[in-house]
Amino acid sequence: MTTVETYILESTESHSRYYLGCNSCRSHVEVLVPKDREIQYLHGGLLVQDAFPDSEGFTPAYREQIIGIRSRYHICDKCWDETLGDDE
Ligand SMILES: [Zn+2]
Repeated sequence: MTTVETYILESTESHSRYYLGCNSCRSHVEVLVPKDREIQYLHGGLLVQDAFPDSEGFTPAYREQIIGIRSRYHICDKCWDETLGDDE
């Protein structure tokens, strides 16, 4: 398996900014993560949907990116669309 390039670009008191690469097409996005949420998820054992809930404006697509940061494996929206498109 190819390793995706994922690393932290910036870390401040309020947030972390990550570079998150796509394992399929090797494009990348930058993801801004509120620091308190990041700590709760990465170190506090919270589930991603509890740390980044819809009720506070976080989207499923955003949570996918957060999971990608943690697992170092991410497929971007474009590649997902192409994968799903094959079936339709
Ligand atoms: Zn991609």
